[in-house]
Amino acid sequence: MNYTSTRDNSRRVTAQEAIVRGISPEGGLFVPETMPALTGEDLTALAGMTYIQRAKWVLEKFLPDWTAEELSAAVEAAYGGDRFEDGNPAPLSRLDENCYLLELWHGPTCAFKDMALQLLPKLLPAAARKSGCGKEIAILVATSGDTGKAALEGFRDVPGTRIQVFYPQEGVSPMQKRQMTTQQGGNVSVVGIRGNFDDAQNGVKAIFGNEAMAKTLGERGFALSSANSINWGRLVPQIVYYISAYCTLLADGELKTGEAVNFCVPTGNFGNILAGYYAKQMGLPVKRFLCASNRNNVLTDFIATGRYDRNRRFYTTTSPSMDILISSNLERLVYLLTGKNDGETREKMAALGGTGVYQLDERELSALQKEFFGGCCDDEEAARTIRETFREYGYLCDPHTAVAMNVCRQYRKETGDETRTIVLSTASPYKFGDTVLAALGEDCPGDDFARLSALEQISGLPVPAALSTLKDAPVRFGEVCAPEEMGDKVLEFLG
Ligand SMILES: *Cc1c(COP(=O)(O)O)cnc(C)c1O
Repeated sequence: MNYTSTRDNSRRVTAQEAIVRGISPEGGLFVPETMPALTGEDLTALAGMTYIQRAKWVLEKFLPDWTAEELSAAVEAAYGGDRFEDGNPAPLSRLDENCYLLELWHGPTCAFKDMALQLLPKLLPAAARKSGCGKEIAILVATSGDTGKAALEGFRDVPGTRIQVFYPQEGVSPMQKRQMTTQQGGNVSVVGIRGNFDDAQNGVKAIFGNEAMAKTLGERGFALSSANSINWGRLVPQIVYYISAYCTLLADGELKTGEAVNFCVPTGNFGNILAGYYAKQMGLPVKRFLCASNRNNVLTDFIATGRYDRNRRFYTTTSPSMDILISSNLERLVYLLTGKNDGETREKMAALGGTGVYQLDERELSALQKEFFGGCCDDEEAARTIRETFREYGYLCDPHTAVAMNVCRQYRKETGDETRTIVLSTASPYKFGDTVLAALGEDCPGDDFARLSALEQISGLPVPAALSTLKDAPVRFGEVCAPEEMGDKVLEFLG
């Protein structure tokens, strides 16, 4: 099981190198050369297993250069013990006959990013040791709100690592900001930037591509790596919960062997939904992936027309983790749609970096539309969905999940497809308490925490301790810089 680059098929690296490096030197993303198979028999066997056992099974397929013991230890550390109620990090709840919610936010930072970022830090130091780089790993992260906190929490005080996070100073929710600026740990740094997520992500990519910088940092004993979803190590743990959700429904008798489902995914950087697509490539019976966007609907247009055009207004919405115009992981899908054509992928990505536009040909577009449906909704629609879902089902969802629920309904109406659909619920509603409270038509004077209590009273869902304890946490990181100054901040931090 080797990995290659979306922009250079002649490259060949092990899983460990792919994960330690994060991104291929010529700018491409690492992808598996072949897909491990997932058969009907495998699914039946997996249906009888726990989440942890399923995770080990999947990880062993993709990460052959860790020993079974190392993978076991990592999976136990991330998902085991009493970390999750009933030992299940990804509970599935049934909303109606055709719709299930897969809750991925029961981890320490209350968003789905924990599913991968609790695991990746357990894998990385061993890989760095073995791949012989001998250097301290410096993780750089650009975040639209949730990745930053999840990565900080995952890597804090992990020996042999340091982590620095850049977030759009005005583009995250108050709770997200508080979570990051109060971060504990001796190896962490958090910097706000005067710009949006794309500026932060471009800044980080530029630092990765800067040879002089790599040399300086190398001399200081650091090797750069990424915890963004461009890192293959972020995607593998996400493949697990698609397979696991399916197996749970199989075990519960809600699905017949071989029956296909749809997945509806609130999407930003295209990492989460792509992990599902990889699960399908392995053999998971999936009819379609519903790609849900907010008002930043570049992906909706792309799926409808085959033309990716990032030249458009950027909107700050109530689902900030999806406020993205350049969805980095789409590159991996483009690579697959072009039949693993590295030259064509390279050209399209160069066009994206230049004019900001690229176009699929007809064959590629029809392959895309067969697998994906794209839909979007604005803040008002999302708020209405939060309100209606609460009234109808007593289920409280966050604004990102609400976008997905809304698109799921649009899809059913438009196509009449009644295939069972699993909607990925990506954040706790308490992470976006202000928005959720307002959507319910409630008002509450006082601070963020008063609003959390008000929401708890209305919904009966307990406020996660990880959020309520932030009330008294001191702010440690107040620094803000321009996007051009990000490199300086890295050099300062790794001085
Ligand atoms: C990151 C995030 C998303 C988008 O996921 P991608 O993998 O970037 O597509 C959606 N919802 C929430 C709550 C998130 O944190």
